[in-house]
Amino acid sequence: MPEGHTIHRLARDLNATLGDAPVVAWSPQGRFDSGAAALDGRPLVKAEAWGKYLFCDFGTDQVLHVHLGLIGKFRDRGAPAPPVVGEIRLRLEGPGATWDLSGPTRCELVDPSEQDLITAKLGADPLRHRPDVGSARAKFARTDRAVGAVLLDQSVVAGIGNVYRAEILFLCGIHPARPSRSLTDDEFDQVWAETVRLLRIGMRLGRIITTDPAEVGRPRSRMTNADRLYVYHQEFCRRCGDQLRTLDLGGRPIGFCPTCQPA
Ligand SMILES: [Zn+2]
Repeated sequence: MPEGHTIHRLARDLNATLGDAPVVAWSPQGRFDSGAAALDGRPLVKAEAWGKYLFCDFGTDQVLHVHLGLIGKFRDRGAPAPPVVGEIRLRLEGPGATWDLSGPTRCELVDPSEQDLITAKLGADPLRHRPDVGSARAKFARTDRAVGAVLLDQSVVAGIGNVYRAEILFLCGIHPARPSRSLTDDEFDQVWAETVRLLRIGMRLGRIITTDPAEVGRPRSRMTNADRLYVYHQEFCRRCGDQLRTLDLGGRPIGFCPTCQPA
């Protein structure tokens, strides 16, 4: 599933490539005909991300809301617009870009009040301007749930998925089953700092890379898939060599190192 860095990068790229010119909007697949018609001929005023949710304002009284879910893709096919390939829910054509949306969980027009309802349920987003870190800290401190599960909870921190949560806890040396409430203030600060740092790197590079270039022996730009993570889908700890273990937390498996992340 795309994590928050993907959606923030998407918002940035939509803003950069569609600019202020009127956009041709249509639904090649036909499932979003009326929604696309309401946007057609309008300029994109602003795309913004909140966690894994994307909102695009075209200056009308409703906002385009997109959630990619597990398999959704929103890709720039370049300009001029190439032939449609596959099931495209929405195509946005600007002078310099053609954005094709396929397989989203949500693609709908919502009122600003509905947008507020969606974002009100979301926790602090590390990639937004001035995220509410205090609220995240308070939510961590008041639950006994495993920290590995709390990190996946979008109402606590918005944008972290299964890959980042495992990598963040490894880098902080925190066992994923520890009760969230047991984290010290310093540990929470470290978790938050790693979250911001890693998501920013992911947004900049367009892929999740958590390993230290000095440890791997090459810059991030030249890392292979085998180089870029510490624990997610890995077998042995890159740092101590121990066999990694897996726990089921928050309904999904999380890898960890029993030595570097003691219970
Ligand atoms: Zn280790």
